[in-house]
Amino acid sequence: MSKEIKPECALCNVEVKLCRSKEGTGPQFCPTKTKEKELQRALKKYQNQETMRFAKAASLQEAECYVRRKEKPFVLRPTKTRVEEVIEFAQKMDFRKLGVAFCAGLFSEGNTFVRILEKHGFEVISVCCKVGGVPKEFLGLRDDEKVRVGTNETMCNPITQAEIMNEAGTDFNILVGLCVGHDALFLKSAKALTTVLVAKDRVLGHNPVAALYGAKGYFQRLMNP
Ligand code: SF4
Repeated sequence: MSKEIKPECALCNVEVKLCRSKEGTGPQFCPTKTKEKELQRALKKYQNQETMRFAKAASLQEAECYVRRKEKPFVLRPTKTRVEEVIEFAQKMDFRKLGVAFCAGLFSEGNTFVRILEKHGFEVISVCCKVGGVPKEFLGLRDDEKVRVGTNETMCNPITQAEIMNEAGTDFNILVGLCVGHDALFLKSAKALTTVLVAKDRVLGHNPVAALYGAKGYFQRLMNP
């Protein structure tokens, strides 16, 4: 199979998929068929003891988000919110010190989340995105490029959020609503592994998938740019 064929799992429409069952099949672009070298390289990385422990805990947590798992035929019955999932995963990994990097626009939600984590016995470092109070001019932004044009505005500062977490030696970090791009910089700069509790969506109540659910309806503008 040609290695140049680009993987397009999102377009896969075979019923029994090769990646879900050995009896399944995959289309021509199927990376399960064409990307053996990458697969082997990845599987080697899992052999790192900490990585294996982390990956195993994540898969255990995944299963434990459902009930009545022994019943046949199995019917999906999820019971845990993502907040509970994060807490249980951190407990499984014996993480003690958690870093919460939150957006200033979600101050109240960040406060609630930190109080919940503390009630579950974690030590929590929380850092707001505006930390440092650096004006947006530092980024070379003009006045007319600010949210509120003509005012003094502080830039979001995800690299400093990450630096503070790194210095504190957090075991695990959790993002609460960082903007697109700011989240990426945090993920690149943080030493500890990081998960996302809230993906910011200013229009959809931080539920970005709603735009995809509605892409054939009220959000059809997305498909017709
Ligand atoms: S890995 Fe192969 S079978 Fe699985 S979704 Fe992708 S293309 Fe389909």
